[in-house]
Amino acid sequence: MVSRGGARGLLGAYELGRTLGEGNFGKVKQARHRGSGAQFAVKILDRARVVSQRVDDQIRREIATLKLLAHPNVVRLHEIAASKTKIYMVLELVNGGELFDRIASKGKLPEQEARRLFQQLIDGVSYCHEKGVYHRDLKPENVLVDRKGNIKISDFGLSALPQHLGNDGLLHTTCGSPNYIAPEVLQNRGYDGSLSDIWSCGVILYIMLVGYLPFDDRNIVVLYQKIFKGDTQIPEWLSPGVQNLLRRILEPNPMKRITMAEIKAHEWFQEDYVPALPYD
Ligand code: ADP
Ligand code: MG
Repeated sequence: MVSRGGARGLLGAYELGRTLGEGNFGKVKQARHRGSGAQFAVKILDRARVVSQRVDDQIRREIATLKLLAHPNVVRLHEIAASKTKIYMVLELVNGGELFDRIASKGKLPEQEARRLFQQLIDGVSYCHEKGVYHRDLKPENVLVDRKGNIKISDFGLSALPQHLGNDGLLHTTCGSPNYIAPEVLQNRGYDGSLSDIWSCGVILYIMLVGYLPFDDRNIVVLYQKIFKGDTQIPEWLSPGVQNLLRRILEPNPMKRITMAEIKAHEWFQEDYVPALPYD
């Protein structure tokens, strides 16, 4: 349960341990709850480094979003506290590192392993969408893996909530990371957050299977042209089922792109699929 408390009380309740990662605005440390002995991750945000309104908004957004979400494939927020100088977010500890490192160390993943991770990614992302949350920055650095090899989606600093939809029912803020961004997000005409998250999941699936990015170029203008055209090679050594799925996800026209329901019904996705149940 999320509770809001004074920073002193919260810090007294936890024993801080090693640094797990460095974020843009502070550190993430391992922490042990003294009462129960349970392990957590504490994201410590340094308010002095939060100079702009925009960043303050990102932190508020991350907290507001995480409070809404309770799913086995989404990082859980346990509690938050704030002092004059710092904000503490006590998160579920995910101790297997980033999906990024897993792919980087193996080069590429066997199709069965990639399928299982993709199924979990889609389970987590579709759950967020059902709650009205669009992540908007899905990439292997923001997807954590636990010791059992299960996916936990994290870093909701750029996420969109229902109140961020325009009168047209679409999202309008261009954000994300260049290699993972959907073509319609770059076009500034409004986009459906579900279909753009699906595109990013397709980029992640491609990297897991192939070992490199589907769209890449040192020149950002050339990169965006490739994304607009959906200009990528889907290797023929992949199974026909996943080739078909990748082509339908990396479809530059969002109106023609595969939907979440269609992904879940896709033959390749369905194999050995054990859906995760939300906690609530
Ligand atoms: P930022 O939004 O500033 O990039 P992140 O939330 O991505 O911060 O956290 C920075 C790093 O800390 C992550 O890349 C990851 O390695 C580590 N980290 C974040 N949350 C957790 C967690 N719940 N469990 C374990 N490590 C985490
Ligand atoms: Mg991050």
